[in-house]
Amino acid sequence: MTIRGTDTRVTHWPDGATFAAAFSFDVDAEEGWIGDDPANADRPGVLSQGRYDAKVGVPSVLDLLSNHGVRATFFVPGRVAERHPDTVRAIVAAGHELAHHGYTHRSVLSLGPDEEREELVRGLDVLGGFGATVTGYRSPAWDLSPATLDLVAEHGFRYASNLMDDVRPYLHEGIDLVEVPVSWTLDDAPHMWFDAESWNKTIVSNDQIERLWLDELEGTRRLGGSWVLTMHPQLSGRPGRLLLLDRMLAAVKEREGVWLTTVHEIAEAARR
Ligand code: ZN
Repeated sequence: MTIRGTDTRVTHWPDGATFAAAFSFDVDAEEGWIGDDPANADRPGVLSQGRYDAKVGVPSVLDLLSNHGVRATFFVPGRVAERHPDTVRAIVAAGHELAHHGYTHRSVLSLGPDEEREELVRGLDVLGGFGATVTGYRSPAWDLSPATLDLVAEHGFRYASNLMDDVRPYLHEGIDLVEVPVSWTLDDAPHMWFDAESWNKTIVSNDQIERLWLDELEGTRRLGGSWVLTMHPQLSGRPGRLLLLDRMLAAVKEREGVWLTTVHEIAEAARR
């Protein structure tokens, strides 16, 4: 099956694979709660949800990935790395990809041009201290300003992973930057996230999420695209959700034709 329309590009996946898949984790920790609501910095109860990332979420996810022999991509805000350096060291030591997710977790839409540049540079500085090569950028909440992509390319990033306009990676027009597309369907937050400020949102069961993600997996396989899951250890690292992650890892690994890799490798394949 091929996609008809204006998009005639075909991504050739390595080693005879017919589609690509990656597990990515946004380690927002406390910054996820403080970024757009600084008042939360003084609310220990709210922050404890983010602290779960460092105490339980990330270690549990790392164990599961190790059990399955799968390398993943971890997008980490600089301030999270400063607050939880051992967490980032563990991610890097296990051989996973470390990528940029802002310095704070403030939306770039709330920043002026100088602040946006400073967020990018400070985040890079901090992550650079962990000895990993950082080539990927994912903005907090996938928000982009009109300047973001140029800024990201200018600072030497190889790819960004924020947009929802395709099912396979592509090179941005006029900039040396690959986009590795994402989607809300393949994000755990819309299905699992809950905020006491908005009780109208429902938490969804693993069964429903698994159905959505497996159908996206099979659909992406048929289209020869890239299936990139975006997860948050403070959500997908809950005890019951780890069962889902365990099943998803097994299901993706055994899917016919899959190239299960990091987001960086998917982006590089698009350049070839
Ligand atoms: Zn985030």
